[in-house]
Amino acid sequence: AKRLGGNQWRVYTPEMRSATVEQLNLESSLRKAIFRDEFIVHYQPKVSLASGRITGMEALVRWQHPTMGLLHPSRFIPLAEETGLISVITERVLAQATRQVRQWQDAGLGRLRVAVNIPPQQLHKGDLIDVLQQALHDSGLAASQLEVELTETSLMEEPEVAIEVFRQIRAMGMTIALDDFGTGYSSLSQLRRFPLDTLKIDQAFVRDIGHCTEDGAIVRAIITMAHQLGMTVVAEGVETAEHLEFLTHERCDYVQGYHISRPVPAEQMEAMLRAQQAT
Ligand code: C2E
Ligand code: CA
Ligand code: CA
Ligand code: CA
Repeated sequence: AKRLGGNQWRVYTPEMRSATVEQLNLESSLRKAIFRDEFIVHYQPKVSLASGRITGMEALVRWQHPTMGLLHPSRFIPLAEETGLISVITERVLAQATRQVRQWQDAGLGRLRVAVNIPPQQLHKGDLIDVLQQALHDSGLAASQLEVELTETSLMEEPEVAIEVFRQIRAMGMTIALDDFGTGYSSLSQLRRFPLDTLKIDQAFVRDIGHCTEDGAIVRAIITMAHQLGMTVVAEGVETAEHLEFLTHERCDYVQGYHISRPVPAEQMEAMLRAQQAT
C-alpha cells in the first residue's frame, strides 16, 4: 500500500501494475514536458449577463504531447499534484495567461479579466503571493484583471492560513473565486468566514436546470444567498438555451459553458474578441 496525501491509502494489486508503469512513464514525460515547455493555455469566455458581452475568460491548461496529442488536465493534473510538478505548471499558466490578456488589451480588444486555477497545495506552499506578483509584474496586467480560482479543499485544509493568504491576494487588488461550489461539504454559512468575491456554481447543478424543479431551486438559492453575502455568481457548464434563460431570469452575473463556447486556443479566443469588438 502506498500512502497518498491526508488519510488516503492506495492498495496495489497486480492489475494495477501496468497502470503504475504507465504512471512512471507519464511522470518522466511530465518532467520533459516542463523542460520542453509543452503546456499551452486554452481560454473559455465568461459572458456578463448584464451586458451580454465577453468580459473575461478562464485559463485552462492543456499538454501538447509530442505523440499523444492534446491532453486535457484530467490526464496529468492529478499526477502533477502528487509529484509537486504542479507548481511549475501553475507558474507557466499564470505567465502565459496574464501576458496574453495584456496583449489583447494592447490590441484594443478590451480590458479583460482572466481567471487562473490554483491547486490547494499552492495555497499552502507559502510562495503564492510572490508567484502572482511576478506574473502581474512581467505581464503588466493590472491586479484587478486577475482572478484566482480555488476549490473548497483549499479552504478547509488550514482555514487560518487560507484566510490570511486570501487577505493578501485581495490587498493586492486581485479577486478570489470559489470553484465547483456545491460539490464539497462546506455550506454558505461556513464560507462567510472567507473573503471571497465570486462563487462558481458547479456544472452538476446547472446541468439539471429544466429537468427537475428541485435542481433549479438549488441554483436559485445559491444565487440569492451569494448575492446577499455580496458575492458575484458565475454559472459553469451552461450547455443549453434553457440553462441560459433560467440563469438570466435568476439574475446570475456571469455564464460560462459550451452553449457560449468551449475552451479554445488563444487565436480562436482572439477571433471571438475581434468579432465582439466590431459590434
Ligand atoms: P474546472 O476549473 O471546473 O474547469 C471547468 C471544466 O469544465 C473545464 O474542463 C471545461 O472545459 C469544462 N467545461 C466548460 N464548459 C462546459 C460545459 O458546458 N459542459 C461540460 N460538460 N464541461 C464544460 P477542463 O479544461 O478539462 O479542466 C478540468 C479541470 O482541470 C478544471 O476544472 C480544473 O480543476 C483543472 N484545471 C484546468 N486547468 C488548470 C490549471 O491551469 N491548473 C490547475 N491546477 N488545474 C487546472
Ligand atoms: Ca476553474
Ligand atoms: Ca469549476
Ligand atoms: Ca470541476
